[in-house]
Amino acid sequence: MRRKKRIFLILCAALFLTGCADKPQIKQVKNVEVKEDKEVHKQLYKKAESGVKEEKDESAKIIVLDPGHSGIVAEGNEPLGPGSAEFKAADTSGTTGVSSHVPEYELTLQLSAQLKKELENRGYTVLMTRESNDQPVSCIQRAQVANDAKADAYVRIHANGSTNQSVQGAMTICTTPQNPFVPELYTLSRKLSDSIINKFCEIAGCENDGVWETDTMSGNNWSQVPATIIELGYMTNPQEDMLMQTPEYQGKMIQGIAAGIDSFFE
Ligand SMILES: [Zn+2]
Repeated sequence: MRRKKRIFLILCAALFLTGCADKPQIKQVKNVEVKEDKEVHKQLYKKAESGVKEEKDESAKIIVLDPGHSGIVAEGNEPLGPGSAEFKAADTSGTTGVSSHVPEYELTLQLSAQLKKELENRGYTVLMTRESNDQPVSCIQRAQVANDAKADAYVRIHANGSTNQSVQGAMTICTTPQNPFVPELYTLSRKLSDSIINKFCEIAGCENDGVWETDTMSGNNWSQVPATIIELGYMTNPQEDMLMQTPEYQGKMIQGIAAGIDSFFE
């Protein structure tokens, strides 16, 4: 009997101990898991926080650059402006260098990529509406990048074309004071256009064709931030076309636009 009792007690103790030992173990595992999750979340949160701080310098102005056109043209039509019954092509193929045979979309992307670096060196936060020539982007989608970023300036880079090969010079394009979609942006868009065209022509040394005010550009009409188009020069003019392909003149064009943006914020 004694032996049986002892065995029974040992069995009970064993069950009790293993039972007790198991429970804290499960708890411990669960606790570790929870703890680890919290730590991971904390670390991720810290990372995200520091990332936001690095990217979002409160004092840095945001510039959105739009390299005109693309190697793959966005299909279909879009309203001329928000709520408009008039439709325009979502994008067009642009012009081509009469002598260089370089398509406009290549020149605009090449120049925008260099301009982005120059602006970043000057302390701006810069976003691009496209970074490759295989990316179709419509005019609304381009404007949306500037709107979503709440950009301080939306600068659209294009080169001009004409049936008359002797036509040359640069111009900027903005909306009119009577624009049916964003009339409140006229003053700032005009100031941006003036600042850029004047500095651009001064530094590049090209003919200044001034600011063209029109409400026919859907990319400008869809922008909720100050916007301008700069037409760098005429790719249909053999001399200006070849000049715009030289690294030296590209450097001047970049300095000109960057100085114009600086001057807009002064
Ligand atoms: Zn163009």
